[in-house]
Amino acid sequence: MTRELHHFIGGRQVAGTSGRFLDVFNPSSGEVQAKTPLASRDEVESAIAAAEKAFPEWSATPAVKRARVMFRFLELVTAEKDALATVLSSEHGKVFEDARGDVQRGLEVIEFACGIPHFMKGEFADNVATGIDVYSMRKPLGVVAGITPFNFPAMIPMWMFGIALACGNTMVIKPSEKDPSVPLRLAELMIEAGAPEGVLNVVNGDKEAVDTLIEDPRVKALAFVGSTPIAKYVYAGAAAQGKRCQAMGGAKNHMVILPDADLDQVVDALIGSAFGSAGERCMANPVAVPVGDELADEIVRRLVPRMAELKIGPSLDPASEMGPLVTAAHRDRVISYIEMGVKEGAKLVVDGRDFRCTAQGYENGFYLGATLFDHVTPDMQSYQDEIFGPVLQIVRAKNFEEAMALPSKHRYGNGTSIFTRDGDAAREYADKVNVGQVGINVPIPVPASFFSFGGWKDSAFGDLNQYGTEGVRFYTELKKVTSRWPTGIRAGAEFHIPTTGQ
Ligand code: NAD
Repeated sequence: MTRELHHFIGGRQVAGTSGRFLDVFNPSSGEVQAKTPLASRDEVESAIAAAEKAFPEWSATPAVKRARVMFRFLELVTAEKDALATVLSSEHGKVFEDARGDVQRGLEVIEFACGIPHFMKGEFADNVATGIDVYSMRKPLGVVAGITPFNFPAMIPMWMFGIALACGNTMVIKPSEKDPSVPLRLAELMIEAGAPEGVLNVVNGDKEAVDTLIEDPRVKALAFVGSTPIAKYVYAGAAAQGKRCQAMGGAKNHMVILPDADLDQVVDALIGSAFGSAGERCMANPVAVPVGDELADEIVRRLVPRMAELKIGPSLDPASEMGPLVTAAHRDRVISYIEMGVKEGAKLVVDGRDFRCTAQGYENGFYLGATLFDHVTPDMQSYQDEIFGPVLQIVRAKNFEEAMALPSKHRYGNGTSIFTRDGDAAREYADKVNVGQVGINVPIPVPASFFSFGGWKDSAFGDLNQYGTEGVRFYTELKKVTSRWPTGIRAGAEFHIPTTGQ
């Protein structure tokens, strides 16, 4: 019988009662390995109630003690990193080392959260007027919610709950229904680390669960990461309720390559960032923009043999460099984009649709070979849309300005990179390109945990980024206190707005 997953509410595992389930696959073999329960409104409300009950005690716990819980959580997850990465890899399909990286990048946010007493500090100014001091305090919001995508089932929940909990909030996470086992385990480990029950809850589910989190007045803020249509939906719903919301959406990142770039480095970067995790990363580089036809021809000449050597296979096989896509439906969607690219007149240089996994027991996995298109143009739909698979599109540019205009005008603005040895050009690109996160000779410029993460344009809605100091601002409200000491000073009744004197 297929294993049934659960919710994690009030510090314990709770079986789903809605009667609705969704299959969790092992994408490497194509087999169903578990069933995710899809929560009803009542079940989500019970998670919100558990978080609400836990809030008074947790928010009153000194920040330094909350930081100690984060330190213990860091140790527990580090000790279990390989086991978590194995589960993650088996549900998502990314290779084991990449799955370890998924856990590690989340832990780096927890490391930042261990310093929360420092970041919760407000400001103080004495004697702003005679005998009057002003100070500010950062206060947690209350119950907050996080809704996460399938592609980073460890890192993205940790982006959210690491900061939210450290700031004194309590939380309900609604992970992707496609690979929920790691977020469920992380919540257990948080309670084991010393967070009181109810501080972190996980409900599995779909639209019904998300709508409940948007509409329930006890939820004060929503963090979302996923595709752009759903990010917009969550953002609009939260705004209509007067809630704080940060909603990160899809991406189509461009790697601009100038003729003076180190081409060995460029080809390594393209192979790793376009095909790592089978292209299912919001910071992948699925578009290469070489400047000049000579450079473009040379890059294609070098990419083709490297793509032929790419080791595609079961995600837990140590020899695999690229695993399958997350589901058959997603693989078929990516294939439909390859068909679209052909119809639109792009040149299909390497066709990944021919790939077959021959490893015994893995013949029915959701594999797709690495695919390369050349002569892609900006008017093509397959260029404008996010494909989110192992498909690299080359758009040739005549010069630097034309190259920079491509990511700048694209509807998405999550990340972009430039590869060059020219410092002037790199500096100008970083300064002027209309995209939120830039890499210079770095293919996947995900900012370190003590910065903050977030793209521009249709890649993010809401004005505060994930994690780092922006994350602390998102999960706290600033209270300002104006006080007069000693109490003996009598100003008498004043009928004008208080000033420091005319
Ligand atoms: P998705 O939008 O399908 O799902 C994200 C979350 O929304 C899931 O928890 C899902 O259950 C929920 N959801 C799905 N349909 C819904 C609906 N109709 N109503 C309410 N909730 C719904 O995204 P995904 O396929 O899980 O993840 C891939 C996407 O995430 C890509 O577009 C990728 O670019 C994006 N992503 C963006 C970032 C970023 O920081 N910008 C990071 C990672 C992934």
